[in-house]
Amino acid sequence: MSKILIVEDEESIAELEKDYLELSGFEVEIENRGDTGLERAMKEDFDLYLLDLMLPGMDGFELCKKIRQEKNSPILMVSAKKDDIDKIHGLGLGADDYITKPFSPSELVARVKAHFSRYERLIGSNAQQNEVIEIRGLKIDKTARRVFIHGEEKNFTTKEFDLLTFLAQNPNRVFTKEELFSNIWDMESIGDIATVTVHIKKIREKIETGTSKPQYIETIWGVGYRFKM
Ligand code: CA
Repeated sequence: MSKILIVEDEESIAELEKDYLELSGFEVEIENRGDTGLERAMKEDFDLYLLDLMLPGMDGFELCKKIRQEKNSPILMVSAKKDDIDKIHGLGLGADDYITKPFSPSELVARVKAHFSRYERLIGSNAQQNEVIEIRGLKIDKTARRVFIHGEEKNFTTKEFDLLTFLAQNPNRVFTKEELFSNIWDMESIGDIATVTVHIKKIREKIETGTSKPQYIETIWGVGYRFKM
């Protein structure tokens, strides 16, 4: 179920918004201060944010900006004044839409639904484009066969890429060198399990910050390797 965070200090308005959105099938949480709203937004994942502008603790402008820095879900601003709407546009806060008070509940629900369908289309089309594995700053783009560590691209040979991807797709499982060799290299290919060790070393040089205490690929002594999730 899609989850919405309402940040609104006027209880009657917050409750009204909540009732109508819940009737439309959304799960709704309310915070009545800007600062606690921000805390909540950082701690939990919401699918949409509905923010009032005049709030105690932190105003809606600041709150919107801070949420947008960390989250991609749509943000709808609620305001009573035309001036505020100009300001929302002018500041480039990353808000997706605004609603002026007083609004009808059906207008609110319609706006929220429109944003959900637009956001889902966006996410859907991104997902179709590239298959990506992301773990603690390591990003493996399987479709483009590219590897990034904290945003910086690293060059991988075909086998290094295959080996890293295989391990990352099977996290927390220990593989012996024999298993890795038979999975990544053709059985006919010339080589032996020492090849695996060499490749692991090269991969670590590219993705690990300190090779003494690897944070991605662990050596399980006497057994093999494991990708830490
Ligand atoms: Ca208010």
